[in-house]
Amino acid sequence: MSGPIPAHIEPRRLVDRSIVLKGTVSADKMPRLSALLDAPAGDVQVELSFARDEQGVNAMHGHYQVDVALICQRCLEQVVVPLDSECDVGFVESDEAAKNLPRNYEPVILDDEKLDLHALIEDELLLALPAVPMHPLETCQHPPGYQPDPAELEEEVEKPNPFSVLAKLKRDT
Ligand SMILES: [Zn+2]
Repeated sequence: MSGPIPAHIEPRRLVDRSIVLKGTVSADKMPRLSALLDAPAGDVQVELSFARDEQGVNAMHGHYQVDVALICQRCLEQVVVPLDSECDVGFVESDEAAKNLPRNYEPVILDDEKLDLHALIEDELLLALPAVPMHPLETCQHPPGYQPDPAELEEEVEKPNPFSVLAKLKRDT
């Protein structure tokens, strides 16, 4: 099945039939995400695979991709960041059942048959947003009016490994 991803689904039915849904959701259906962006995003590419696993968990594997425009925290210009997020959801009926889910599943408690799928996808994309969006150092622009100080540039060259520190910071986050 492909096409626009429906706003509401009945997960158990889709699990029963091992359905794969592939399609798009317009980002303008996601107000919480849109509010954080510097420019409207296009369609979110979505692929959802429903299945009951060997342990009997009603599961969904989701893959979401969209480019989003954010503000670079170094130069304050726009930076387009590709979001690419995958998650495994386990559908359960109670808090108790959620606690017993294998740890690789993110529990989603179904209080009635229908699930707000767009909100779930939006939640995943919000989690995938970088905490501190930035251009790669080579392409990042300096703030308007910035004049590089030649002494400072020389100093930077002499420092042993400014990038290894950044790389380590990135790894640690
Ligand atoms: Zn920048």
